[in-house]
Amino acid sequence: MVSGDEKIMYWGSVKSFKHIILLFIVILIVLPIIAAVSLLFKSQKLSDELNTVKALADKSTINPILVDKIESAEQSSQIETPVAESESIDYQLDYPDLYATPVAKKLSKGEKKVYLTFDDGPSKQTPKILDVLDEFQVKATFFVVYKNDEFSNSMYKEIVNRGHTIGVHSASHNYNKIYSSVEYYLEDFNKMYLHIYELTGVKIDLFRFPGGSINSHNQSTYQPIIAEMIRRGFTFHDWNVQSGDTTKNVTKELIYNNVVNNVLKRNKSVVLMHDILSEVATVQALPEIIEEIKREGFSIDKLDATVAPFLFSYKN
Ligand SMILES: [Zn+2]
Repeated sequence: MVSGDEKIMYWGSVKSFKHIILLFIVILIVLPIIAAVSLLFKSQKLSDELNTVKALADKSTINPILVDKIESAEQSSQIETPVAESESIDYQLDYPDLYATPVAKKLSKGEKKVYLTFDDGPSKQTPKILDVLDEFQVKATFFVVYKNDEFSNSMYKEIVNRGHTIGVHSASHNYNKIYSSVEYYLEDFNKMYLHIYELTGVKIDLFRFPGGSINSHNQSTYQPIIAEMIRRGFTFHDWNVQSGDTTKNVTKELIYNNVVNNVLKRNKSVVLMHDILSEVATVQALPEIIEEIKREGFSIDKLDATVAPFLFSYKN
């Protein structure tokens, strides 16, 4: 045992200073070694993470293609249809004939354009809409759903024969099904694509997502679905003017005001309307809408692969 006196003697002694100096030397040597070893481990871990991210980035088709797509729409350049590589995701190898080649161009300066689009047809309204369009010598775009009765099949053909654009909306229009995975989306899309092709001979290159490209049903799947559709060369169009024609108790006046007021605010409008049986007001409003838009100096045209698409913004 060390007595109290010995303790006092020790803490003032040369020996104690020697020990303190030794302790400092040990700390000065050991601490950097510990720090160096832990940094080495950390750097190894970060390097592994970096390699994983690099590998994912190499495989990923989302960002580079989306950026290409947006730039190509702006710069009028053409997108090459990417060749499926050995590291492709399985669904990229499905439906090898399901490809298109878009060429987008910009509006020329001072040009004022309106694209009328009709979703969810064909319906009993289709012949009436077609007649109004013919009357005013206007071409429009129909994003259709799958029906297989005689009347509907004749309407798909009629849309094409009268010079309008036909595009895929969805076979089932079932949000829960089509947005559950890329595979389900492609299966549904391919069914509609083939139906149009068999009836009209048109290999469509345009489509519109049910609910728009980004909606509350596809939060977890829209990015891979969009990436895959763009990779296949298809162009999709959202809209920047809503006619509001599916609003409850809608009137012809309401649709007219929604469309005309919003079209006048911009040079290029993609107007969302519906071709469904219950939308009588849409057909009623159409002649006056067309007249007014034309009077204001806008030309009305159909969408095609040369029209740079209006797309909803991505949210992170
Ligand atoms: Zn729809």
